[in-house]
Amino acid sequence: MSDRIRCNCRRCVIRGLMGPAVVVTVGVLFLLDQLRGGYLSFGDTWPVILVVIGLISLASALAPTDGHVGGPVPPAPPGTTPTPPNPYVNQGQGSGR
Ligand SMILES: [Zn+2]
Repeated sequence: MSDRIRCNCRRCVIRGLMGPAVVVTVGVLFLLDQLRGGYLSFGDTWPVILVVIGLISLASALAPTDGHVGGPVPPAPPGTTPTPPNPYVNQGQGSGR
């Protein structure tokens, strides 16, 4: 248990799954490498890790940030849909340029 304030907005929850998902993916790929004896060798299946990272990043970028707490909203990767403004942030600081 950590003393950090855990944000429960969907973006932070999905982003928190990145590490465990990569570890599980690497484990499964090594397991397949062992089970099939070279037919599904890790040298051939490692791009799956990139796919998993990309899918989680995409899901995180598309997820809403309603109820985000603890600092600025993590930025979405470039080329993705911008997020709606956080209703808890003080607005009205002039029109955007
Ligand atoms: Zn959050």
